Amino acid sequence: MRPNNKGFRVTLPHNAKTLDLRRLRAHYDAGDMIFHENDARDNAYIIESGEVEISTERMGRKVGLVRLGAGEVFGETALLGAGKRTATAIATADTEVFAISPEILRGRILQVDPLVGLLMSLLVNRYRKWRYVSPDEAARGQELHRDVESFSEPDHADAFMRDLEDRKKTALGELRMAENIAGGIRREEFVPYLQPIVELPGGRIKGFESLIRWRHPAQGLVSPHDFIPVAERTQMVRDLDMLMLRHACTIAPQLQRFGRDVYVSVNLSGVHFDSDTLAQDIAKIVYDSGVNPSLIVLEITESALMGDPAVAEKALGNLRLLGLRVALDDFGTGYSSLGYLHRFPIDILKIDRSFVTSLAANDKSTDVVRAIVSLAQTFQLDLVAEGIESAGDAETLAALGCGGGQGYLYGRPMPFNDAMSLLQK
Ligand code: C2E
Ligand code: CA
Ligand code: CA
Repeated sequence: MRPNNKGFRVTLPHNAKTLDLRRLRAHYDAGDMIFHENDARDNAYIIESGEVEISTERMGRKVGLVRLGAGEVFGETALLGAGKRTATAIATADTEVFAISPEILRGRILQVDPLVGLLMSLLVNRYRKWRYVSPDEAARGQELHRDVESFSEPDHADAFMRDLEDRKKTALGELRMAENIAGGIRREEFVPYLQPIVELPGGRIKGFESLIRWRHPAQGLVSPHDFIPVAERTQMVRDLDMLMLRHACTIAPQLQRFGRDVYVSVNLSGVHFDSDTLAQDIAKIVYDSGVNPSLIVLEITESALMGDPAVAEKALGNLRLLGLRVALDDFGTGYSSLGYLHRFPIDILKIDRSFVTSLAANDKSTDVVRAIVSLAQTFQLDLVAEGIESAGDAETLAALGCGGGQGYLYGRPMPFNDAMSLLQK
């Protein structure tokens, strides 16, 4: 192992003639062994050029399994679990390979979907067991094929099984959570809480942000932080968001009794932008409800837009045509660029809470807010500063030219009836 110049450690593929640590490229001459059966697993490899033969020893004889050329991958099981190589890889020509270390991938697989991680680990484990020949068996020249459950592999099995157990726990936890969310939707346990959005200065209520809460029969009021990530990975967030939109369409007309043009802002997960029918789905809900579309604001984060900017641009354009308004949520935390502000049809910028929280203590935050204010003026966008907790922050923001605010100072997210009473006052 050698530290590379970025600080994380990579394993030098043995026998490599050269290794470019930044790109993890290794060179082998024809005939060089890249790894041998029963070596400890380190990296997986992509062949950049040349040829690699994968072989295994069966009853003392080498059996060629496959020859791989440029663009193909080998040693990939190293990415999913520790243990020993089940085959030998030899360069059969001058060969350049690109090494991928397991650390890079393992975290990502788990991040994407713990279930996928679990399934892959299980498959690798089955494969490893199936391919494994103990020294005893090899001496007796036994056949490779066997019943996978009938033996246990001594080396590395413990660490691997612990890893597997962890994955299983995470994956099953998510599965259970997903089932519970589905049940919660059926039992209508998801409700919107409303948090006032006010004019600065002054504090007149301009609208409410709808923030989802799970009225769980056993756990009480559950925060979105505890279920939205799972709902996003399982796509159930689509149902939750459309549910909140339906609520907003019912709530908005009722709010007009006590305040003119008071709008309801709903959150849209980035997951929706994978769907071709997003604008249609939203249009149907809005039209069926009969609400004036200008009373509904859709909050979207920058990262949601940047996934596929072309798709997002089209979807937002269609939503705008319906008369809905669009707010860019958590503004300043993502890949803010003038390019897309100009490109995307946006009506409102929501200045992220992190800048507001640090206003009093940090001149840089004041500069950021000042820059966002002038940006908003240039593009004729409304502004809402999030997370205002003190009157001092509200004054500073108003003085900087920020025309809207939201935060505990004006009210916490509250049930519909409380929002109505607040508006009535
Ligand atoms: P967000 O959209 O940025 O919502 C603002 C969050 O900041 C809310 O947390 C709100 O309660 C909190 N907040 C408001 N004012 C203050 C303040 O003065 N101080 C502090 N410390 N916090 C304040 P909440 O309700 O827990 O929501 C968390 C996140 O969950 C939201 O962040 C949003 O990303 C997501 N979320 C909430 N409802 C939905 C929904 O219906 N659909 C989707 N997809 N996501 C939702
Ligand atoms: Ca929001
Ligand atoms: Ca926000």
